[in-house]
Amino acid sequence: MVFNILTLFPGMVEAGLNTSILGRAAEKGLIRINAVDIRDFTENRHRRVDDYTYGGGAGMLMQAQPVYDAFLAAAGGRKHRVIYLTPQGRLFTQEYAAELAAEDEITLVCGHYEGIDERALEAMNAEPVSIGDYVLTGGELPAMVLVDAVSRLIPGVLGNHESADTESFGNGLLEYPQYSRPEEWMGMRVPEILLSGDHARVDAWRLEQSLLRTKERRPDLYEKYITEHPEEKAGKRAGNRKNTKKTHTGLQ
Ligand code: SAM
Repeated sequence: MVFNILTLFPGMVEAGLNTSILGRAAEKGLIRINAVDIRDFTENRHRRVDDYTYGGGAGMLMQAQPVYDAFLAAAGGRKHRVIYLTPQGRLFTQEYAAELAAEDEITLVCGHYEGIDERALEAMNAEPVSIGDYVLTGGELPAMVLVDAVSRLIPGVLGNHESADTESFGNGLLEYPQYSRPEEWMGMRVPEILLSGDHARVDAWRLEQSLLRTKERRPDLYEKYITEHPEEKAGKRAGNRKNTKKTHTGLQ
C-alpha cells in the first residue's frame, strides 16, 4: 500500500514511520511512504507557502497552488482516496482504519497554521478526517497515527496477524488484561485461571474481563455491544470483581 504524505515537514513523517514494525513493513515492500515536500512546489521566490486569510483574522493559511501542485506531482491522475487531516473531519476509528486498509494507495494532506485554502481541498476532492476533538499544530502527527493504524491491518505487517483481531475494538470491546512471567510479582499473582490450561475457561474469563473493562472505561462502547449481544452482559460469566488479596484481576 502506498501512502503519499503531502507535508511541510517530510523529515518528520519519514523519521516517525521508518522504525520498528512499520520500518520492517517498508523493507518488505508491504507499505511505501512517499513523503512529498509541499514547499518544493511553491512558485514564490522566497519559498513561502502561506499567506493572510481573506476577511481578516489572526493566523496564516497554506495557499492552494503549492498544495495542489504537490498533489498532482505525487498522485495526480490516479483514482484513489485523498484525506485531509483536520479537526473538522470524520472521527478516525478502528473501523475507519479497516476500511482504508483495503485501499492500494491513499494520499494524506497535512495542514499547518490555520489550515489550507478551501479551494485546494475541493480540487483534490479531499475527505476530512480528524484523530480527535483537540487541535494540534500540524497534520503530521495525525497522518502518522493514521498510517500506523492502517498499516498494522495489512496482512503480513504484524508477525502474527491474529493479534490484530483480538485487540481492543476488534470485536467492539476493549481488550482483557494480560500478564507475562513471573507468576508472582510484587505480591500480585497472575489469575489462576490463566495457568489452568483450560482454553474454554480462559476464553470465557477473557470475554468477561473485556466486558467489565469496557463497561467501566467506555460505557458508550459497552452499551452498543450489549444492544447487539444482550446475552453477554458483564457479570454473567466466569471471573468477576471478587478478588483475593494476592490474585490480580486487572480490574483495580
Ligand atoms: N484552523 C483550524 C480549525 O480551527 O479547525 C485548525 C488548524 S490546526 C492549528 C493546523 C493543522 O493541524 C490542520 O490543518 C490539520 O492538518 C492539523 N490538525 C490539528 N488538529 C487535528 C486533529 N485533531 N485531527 C487531524 N488533524 C489535525
